[in-house]
Amino acid sequence: MPYPSTFPPLDIPDGIDLWTLMFGDRHRDFPVTKEILTCDETDRSYSWGDIRSASIAFGRGLMAVWGWKTGDVLAFYTPNSIDTPILTLGALWAGGIASPANPLYTVDELAFQLRDSGAKGLVTQPANLPVAIAAAHKANLPLDRIILVGHHRDPSGQIRHFSSLTTTTPTTPTKPPTPQNSPAFIVYSSGTTGLPKGVCLTHRNMVSNVLQASYVEGRQWRALGGPDGRGDKQLGVLPFFHIYGLTCGVLMCVYEGWQLIVLERFDMLKALRAIERHRITLAYVPPPVVLAFSKHPAVDGFDLSSLKVLHSGAAPLSRELTEAVWKRLRVPVKQGFGLSETSAVVCCQVVDEWGKFMGSVGKIMPNMSAKIVGEDGEEVAEGEPGELWLKGPNVFPGYFKNPERTKEAFSPDGFFKTGDVFRRDKHGNYYCVDRLKELIKYNGYPVPPAELEGVLIGHKEVADACVIGVEDQAKATEVPRAYVVLRDGVKASEAKAQELADWVATQVAPHKKLRGGIRFVDQIPKSPSGKVLRRVMREQVKKEERAS
Ligand code: AMP
Repeated sequence: MPYPSTFPPLDIPDGIDLWTLMFGDRHRDFPVTKEILTCDETDRSYSWGDIRSASIAFGRGLMAVWGWKTGDVLAFYTPNSIDTPILTLGALWAGGIASPANPLYTVDELAFQLRDSGAKGLVTQPANLPVAIAAAHKANLPLDRIILVGHHRDPSGQIRHFSSLTTTTPTTPTKPPTPQNSPAFIVYSSGTTGLPKGVCLTHRNMVSNVLQASYVEGRQWRALGGPDGRGDKQLGVLPFFHIYGLTCGVLMCVYEGWQLIVLERFDMLKALRAIERHRITLAYVPPPVVLAFSKHPAVDGFDLSSLKVLHSGAAPLSRELTEAVWKRLRVPVKQGFGLSETSAVVCCQVVDEWGKFMGSVGKIMPNMSAKIVGEDGEEVAEGEPGELWLKGPNVFPGYFKNPERTKEAFSPDGFFKTGDVFRRDKHGNYYCVDRLKELIKYNGYPVPPAELEGVLIGHKEVADACVIGVEDQAKATEVPRAYVVLRDGVKASEAKAQELADWVATQVAPHKKLRGGIRFVDQIPKSPSGKVLRRVMREQVKKEERAS
């Protein structure tokens, strides 16, 4: 029997879209003028009311100027900025779909996402414009479909804000009805195997996950209190293009009325300064940031007394790191678990239980159920490890225009197969113990090995390649390492390995660099059908490392 959530079920309203959940007629225990999005660099802020009116204005602009239709996709290629959530919510207001991309993508990576999602527009910032233009060319997106936003420093050091979008329009269309089962987001993930795929997250999925996370997380933060008694200042360093930053950062803050102090990208000194200056109370981060809190020498130079809790997710967190942060700062680090395919949040530790179930990622969200299954697809005994399968209103309906991969992702009885190995204790706490799928997580960013293998095999001196993740404990992350078979006549050497790794680095976004190095081998283990046996490779590597 599947395990139901140990939280009481929530009443998730029917027929409501995400924009309406955020801004429709609803109970709010904070004023319209409450500041929600604050830029750490410029101190520019948007209140809840500003976000609502600016998102409507942008949505109206899209409909009136571009003839935006329900289901049209707006892509984003920008570092974190307080402007982009408004454009995201504006696209949703107008019945559109948002598809955020990593702002460090190369031209080819971005062009793939633009083509695959069928984007009708692209939001970017000046620093990203050259890549955005080149990718738009490749994807046949007209250049007048690129929207520029953000701020920059002029030569005198003054900060200038700008936006190339039109908000005053000749007509004022009203919000189109948006069916709850239509997509709100298409985010990219490689799933359990292969190349990145568009993960469709519907309005219903997102509404559910905001309400689920609000029930579990929101209650805790409110109980913790904060500068205004609401436990309400978040450090905004998680990227908004990733579902973790989108749901736990942007959407939770708009819904709950918390303030998000937005940093363009993670930088420890800037983060520490922001915590001290804004009296930040909580932060959602990946494990390498937890590591920085435990080790970075600058930590001692800042007043971090406002910080009540750190929440780690996106990749495995070791018990040692949790303990090291507690010892140094007396700040509890709790853990959560989620995936793009589940609108982010699946499990979450609660602060009240902190320290009790060390290593656990917490309990599953309300209205979800889980199975832990063996290789035969049958549930294993409680406490035993197996693949985690999930059902719930936040679980995606499938990959965008990809029925084959969608079919593979679900069991016949409709459970989503996560590709992660879990065990569950008798109190309903879940523990992530291994990963069956190919995915590598570098600093919380997904690295699909198949993509790197494709790049390597495209090199004229490479006959075959296999990429796996290896632990870099000093940095609290996995790093991708390639095992390469060279073509006949090409000599293996350290210089050759470096040359190949440098070449790969020119072809992919920085988080996908082969930081684990390149090792030369005679052959790659393959199944009779020619599939790379990555698990065999991983076992071989573990054995070698134990022996050395
Ligand atoms: P993404 O779709 O990029 O959010 O990646 C989801 C994957 O990240 C999961 O399937 C896990 O493999 C991994 N992951 C997320 N949170 C954790 C965690 N707390 N511990 C271990 N792995 C995690």
